[in-house]
Amino acid sequence: MVILNALFPRISEDHPNPNHKLLPTCVKLSKEKRIVIVGGGPAGVHMSACLAAKGYKNVTLLEAEAEVGGKSLTMYDPSQPDVPHELGTCYMSPGYTLIRNLLDEYDKDNLESTFANEKKGRMVFGLRLSDEEKQKYTKGMEYFDWVLEETEERTTSSCCRCLPNSAQSVPIFAAMLKYNKIHESIFGKYPYGLPPKPKDWSKIDMTAMDFLKKNGLEILEPVFLYSQQVQGYGILDRIPAFYLLWWHHPDTINGSIRASLGSDDIIVSLLKNGWQSLWKKMVQRHSGEVKYVTGASVTSIKRTPTVQVKYTHEGVEKQLEADVFISAVDLCRFRHLIVDLDPEEETVFSRLTESVLTTTLYKGKTTEHEHTVEFWFGKMGQLSSSGVGQFYGHRNSRMAARPEIPSSGSELRVAYQYMDRPLESGDASKLLHTLQEGLKTYAGEPEVDVKLQKPWPYFPRFDAKGLSEGLPWKILQLQGQRNTIFIGSSVCFESALDCVAYNLMLCKKICA
Ligand SMILES: Cc1cc2nc3c(=O)[nH]c(=O)nc-3n(C[C@H](O)[C@H](O)[C@H](O)COP(=O)(O)OP(=O)(O)OC[C@H]3O[C@@H](n4cnc5c(N)ncnc54)[C@H](O)[C@@H]3O)c2cc1C
Repeated sequence: MVILNALFPRISEDHPNPNHKLLPTCVKLSKEKRIVIVGGGPAGVHMSACLAAKGYKNVTLLEAEAEVGGKSLTMYDPSQPDVPHELGTCYMSPGYTLIRNLLDEYDKDNLESTFANEKKGRMVFGLRLSDEEKQKYTKGMEYFDWVLEETEERTTSSCCRCLPNSAQSVPIFAAMLKYNKIHESIFGKYPYGLPPKPKDWSKIDMTAMDFLKKNGLEILEPVFLYSQQVQGYGILDRIPAFYLLWWHHPDTINGSIRASLGSDDIIVSLLKNGWQSLWKKMVQRHSGEVKYVTGASVTSIKRTPTVQVKYTHEGVEKQLEADVFISAVDLCRFRHLIVDLDPEEETVFSRLTESVLTTTLYKGKTTEHEHTVEFWFGKMGQLSSSGVGQFYGHRNSRMAARPEIPSSGSELRVAYQYMDRPLESGDASKLLHTLQEGLKTYAGEPEVDVKLQKPWPYFPRFDAKGLSEGLPWKILQLQGQRNTIFIGSSVCFESALDCVAYNLMLCKKICA
C-alpha cells in the first residue's frame, strides 16, 4: 500500500493554489460584516459553515426550497425507509478527500458504501451490457472489466488482445501516467479545483476526443466515456478538452490506478444516508451562528451602496439589508435576480450555457437479472424523435447502497436522461414519454410507476471561445467587487467536490 501511494501520489491540498494571485484584495471580509448568502445548495451551505467556523456571526442564508441541499436531493420511499435514492449528487471517487473531511466533521455515521460487484463478490461496481442493441441485457460486469473489453475493441494490435486482463491493463495505466505528465506540463501542480490558466492555450484548444487523439491517448476513451460523458460532463466529441482536464486531475487518475491495483481507494462510492444528509447536518451544527431561512424565494438583489435583498417568505414580501452578498445560485439562469448587474459581469455570465440531466424515481418489477447499475452507452447524449434526451441508464439504490436488504419483488430505480441543450418549456412531458418508451423498448419494462421526475439544469459552462478568452479566471477577478462574492457550480464545475474546493480556495483569502 505504501508503495502504491508513493508511485501514484496525491497532490497535497496544501499545495499553493496559483489562482489565489488573481483574487482582488477587496475579497477580504472583516468579521463584523453583515453577510447574506442566496442559495442553500452545497455551495451556499458549505460557505455558511466555513464562515461560522471562522467566527463570522452575522450571516443569513436564504433558500427558496423547503429544505437545503439544492441538487443534492435524497428521496426516501415509505416502502424502503432505509434506502436513499439520489435524484442529484450521488457518487464519490478517490479524489473526494475534501468531502470525506466534511463527512468526518459533520456526518460521521454517513458511511461510504461501495457498489456490490456481482461477478467477483468484491465491492466495486456492477453494470449490465448488451451483446447487441435491443437484445436482452443480462451480463453482470465489473467496471474495470468493461473498460478492458471496450479497450480491446478499440485496440488494433492483436498481440494486446491475446493478453490476459492483468497484462492488458498495463497499457491503460501507462496511458494514464502519460496523461498525468501532459496535464502537469499544461497546468503545473495545483490542488484539485479550477485549474490555473494555461500559458499555451493551443495545447488544449480542441475537443476532449481530439485531445486524446492528438496526444496518443485514445486507449483512455472508455475510461473517460464513463467518468466524463456518462456523468453528464459533455459528449467527448464535443466538449472542450479543458473540462476533461479539469475533472480528471492527476490526483483522480492516480486514485483510480491505486484502486485498480488493490489499495484502499474506492473507484466509486455512495453514501449510506445520502448526500443531502451532509448539508442538513452542517446547517444543524451552525444554526446557532448562521440564520438559515428556508422557503425564502429571493426576487431581487441590489448591491450598492449596501446590499438590499427582497424575498418572499410564507407568502409575505420581505426585505433584508446586508454589507456583502454571496451568490450561491446558478448564474446561467438567475443572474437577473441581481438588478444592478454590471456590464462587466453580464459580459461574463451571459456566456454561460448548460445541459439538462433528468433523473426519475420509478418503481418497476424486479427483473431476472437485476443489477446495481445498467447503462446503454450508445443512447447517452442522443435525442428522441420529440427532441429530448434518451433514457441511457438507471441505478437500483437498494442493491447499490443497501445490498443486505432483500428484494420485495419490485424495485425503485433512478433513471437518467441527458441532453446537450438548456431546458425548454414543454420538455417535461416529452421527457416522461421518452423515458417510458425507452424503458419499454430496450430495458424490457412495459409498465412502471413514476414517483418523481427532476429535469435538472446541469453543468453550466463556457464554450471553447469563452474558455480561450479566459472567462473562468475573469470571474476570479470579479470576486469581492460590488460587495459580491460568487460561488457555486456556475462559477466552478458541476460537482459537490468543486463547490467545496472553490469555497476553500476563496475562504483562504476571504477570511485571511
Ligand atoms: C442528477 C445529478 C447527479 C449529480 N451527481 C453528482 C455526483 O455524483 N457527485 C458530485 O460531486 N456532484 C454531482 N452532481 C452535481 C452537484 O449536485 C452540484 O454540482 C451541486 O449541487 C451544485 O451546488 P450549488 O450549491 O452550486 O447549486 P445547487 O445545488 O443548484 O443549489 C442552488 C440553490 O439555490 C436555490 N435558489 C435558486 N434560486 C433561488 C432564489 N431565487 N432564492 C433562494 N434560493 C434560490 C435553489 O433552490 C438551490 O437550493 C449531480 C447533480 C445532478 C443534478
